[in-house]
Amino acid sequence: MSSNVEHKWLLDEKDYEALQQIQDITSNADEIQPLILTEILSTNANVEYLQQHGLDGSTDSSTFKKLIPLVSYEQLQPYITRIAEGDDSPILCSNPITGFFVSSGTSGGEPKLVPIYEQEFERRLSFFNYLMARTKQLFPNINCYNDKAMNFHFAKPDHKTKAGILVSSVFTRLLKTSLNLKSIATGNNAIPDDILLCTDTYQSLYCQLLCGLYQNDLVFQVGSIFASGLLHVFKFLENHWADLVSDIRTGSINNPKITDLSLRESVMKILVKPNPQLADLIETECSKGTWKGIVRRLWPNTKYIKAIATGSLSQYIPLLNYYTNNLPIFSDHYGSTECLLGLNLDPICDPNETSYTLIPTMAYFEFLPMDTTNINGEVTQELVDLVDVKLGQEYELVITTFAGLYRYCIGDILRVTGFTNKAPKFSFVRRKNVILNLEYEKTNESDLRLGVEKAGGVLKPFGATIVDYTSYADTSTIPGHYVLYWELLIDGNDHNTQTNHFIPSSVYNDCCLAIEDSLSTFYRIKRSQEKTINPLEIRVVKSGTFEKLMQLAINGGASMNQYKTPRSLNSNQIHFIQLLESNVISSYFSQKNPRVGLH
Ligand code: AMP
Repeated sequence: MSSNVEHKWLLDEKDYEALQQIQDITSNADEIQPLILTEILSTNANVEYLQQHGLDGSTDSSTFKKLIPLVSYEQLQPYITRIAEGDDSPILCSNPITGFFVSSGTSGGEPKLVPIYEQEFERRLSFFNYLMARTKQLFPNINCYNDKAMNFHFAKPDHKTKAGILVSSVFTRLLKTSLNLKSIATGNNAIPDDILLCTDTYQSLYCQLLCGLYQNDLVFQVGSIFASGLLHVFKFLENHWADLVSDIRTGSINNPKITDLSLRESVMKILVKPNPQLADLIETECSKGTWKGIVRRLWPNTKYIKAIATGSLSQYIPLLNYYTNNLPIFSDHYGSTECLLGLNLDPICDPNETSYTLIPTMAYFEFLPMDTTNINGEVTQELVDLVDVKLGQEYELVITTFAGLYRYCIGDILRVTGFTNKAPKFSFVRRKNVILNLEYEKTNESDLRLGVEKAGGVLKPFGATIVDYTSYADTSTIPGHYVLYWELLIDGNDHNTQTNHFIPSSVYNDCCLAIEDSLSTFYRIKRSQEKTINPLEIRVVKSGTFEKLMQLAINGGASMNQYKTPRSLNSNQIHFIQLLESNVISSYFSQKNPRVGLH
């Protein structure tokens, strides 16, 4: 179906302007950041929160830093609740609040409500315009007339607060605004917007895949916001390809579960006639008994994968590599419900080396150097400004936004990896909170991730890949011990029973030890010498368990677009633990003590 004429993906005037703006704002980050703070504080001079803290209209940064405390969501929640209940006085922001964005609730507990006002959209859109222009510049061999991105989206229904204020997930809302998501989608999307906006997950995903498969040879980019979402799409394909093939063969939707008439109508604009040849190809590829490289096999012109796979999401890189036969993975941006933050301006790199340049116009940024709190949790070192961060150092990110979050700790730890002009680039290290802490050994998300990666190396020669994992500090016995729930893919096959594979137990025991060996010295001393922690346990769960876990989180209000598997569970999340427990097929313990003195 490709055209004979090669129309390169040319940059237009708007793109050149955006590229110039990236240059300008990163070169002038030192001047822009104080201006951003002044703008935020002068616009919001009359808000209750700032006045309560004694900031009487001053826009001076040192006064601001002296008077306004560092806060997390919990401290702002009473103010946000008042806004949600209809108090329209200027509480946090002087602009009228027209809605809330809702966070996934999977990065740091409960879903958070973040107030937004109308002009906020323009700021967010400028971020995606920069991204779009840079992507076009870096992938110039895209035929701009025919080629299509295939970006999957999981829309979430909007709802309203008691006072009638709209609550939506960020991407669903952006997609619905007149500004629309075309730019976010990196140009032409193979999937029409109205299908992306359907909130019935099954019907939407089925129709998204149907459109994407039907236009298979036009697709140059396969993406979703997070790697986990994209893997969900591949799993869905594994389970539903036969129905999809039948529809493509007949050029009609035979699947009775697609009951939404407008959705059917949208799909039929794409599925214009039967394509038995394509149906044969998909059937042949999906019947081969392996899903390895399925993306290249079904969408042969795909040049790269666009999905965030950094931080805790880097765990999905091996699986993405499996499904795509090592297509380049482009983690395009770093952002949160509260604020869009950084762009990956050099996407052609090893996904493990991805860095994001913080965009100085998005918010006022401050950085809390790590390891600068004393035993009482008091901060003992000054926060530094964006242009004063030091190469190689780790910081916690603190933001002040136009919509009324002042000195707000997002909870992310970042490491400085370089600079784009004067604006620093960061790699995402981990979420801040310690996730496993039986004996004050303070295992954090990246410690655990490294351990799981090591264990993944032990399993690799046996053709097994870790699909997903989470953890739990089990204190039902004394001493307590760490439990890791694992879902595996073995030689491309789902792993559902204890007997359908031939990996000896000793290999799993070695996996337990590999994890323990890579945890902190504290952990290993407590385990091996003080014996105050019992051997680590791996509980293997049935294939599909982590999909069910996601569904449970979504039923509880999380958005699938933003969903990230929680890397640890606590005793308050008993329904998650119960679900995992009911799917355990085998369990293994470390048989040796971890070595002390490795690190
Ligand atoms: P949410 O507000 O629910 O969308 O979650 C935002 C959080 O997702 C951020 O604070 C990060 O912890 C995480 N996140 C967002 N972008 C990235 C990224 N590029 N790499 C790693 N983690 C990310």
